Amino acid sequence: MHHPESAEPRTLGDHVWHDHAACRSTPAKPVDSTIFFPEPEEMDRIRAAKTLCARCPVRRTCLDAALEAGDRDGIRGGMTEEEREPLHSKLHRRLDYARVNAVLAGRDIHLTDAERRAVTRAAYQAGVPAERLAWLLKITEEHAEKLYRHVRREFRNRAVEQQNADTSWSAPAPGRDELGTAA
Ligand code: SF4
Repeated sequence: MHHPESAEPRTLGDHVWHDHAACRSTPAKPVDSTIFFPEPEEMDRIRAAKTLCARCPVRRTCLDAALEAGDRDGIRGGMTEEEREPLHSKLHRRLDYARVNAVLAGRDIHLTDAERRAVTRAAYQAGVPAERLAWLLKITEEHAEKLYRHVRREFRNRAVEQQNADTSWSAPAPGRDELGTAA
């Protein structure tokens, strides 16, 4: 299948943001990069770095990139190492639908496990072919089909549970085994 987005390397767009970074040093506008690696008590450097970040057009992308890369060093996206630490440690549980939708639209973003599951569910519900899901999540088609089987099972189990809840007043609920769980 032809994907219009695949005409160019997908990763390209995700590094272009570097060019827009307020901390990018140029001969005309030199930036002292050491301000981004302050000691915790060096308030002047922290303030100087945060001032740059505050007017940086790619602040959110920068923060996401640091979190995705597990880059815990220095100030990124306007946050110090200490401020960012809680985000790093709970990253795998993050579920940001803006990011889920961006991937569904074909953008190349490294998602958390929770976000990948959300993409799979949304793609499944939208009837997106496994081949396309494989491309979106950068996995093999076999793996994408397996994810779809999981989702199919999840939805079916949920429907059965719903049905059981609806009918439990009149009849004993059938066991999961009787209904079969193999996809
Ligand atoms: S948010 Fe701060 S560290 Fe990130 S690119 Fe912008 S200025 Fe640089």
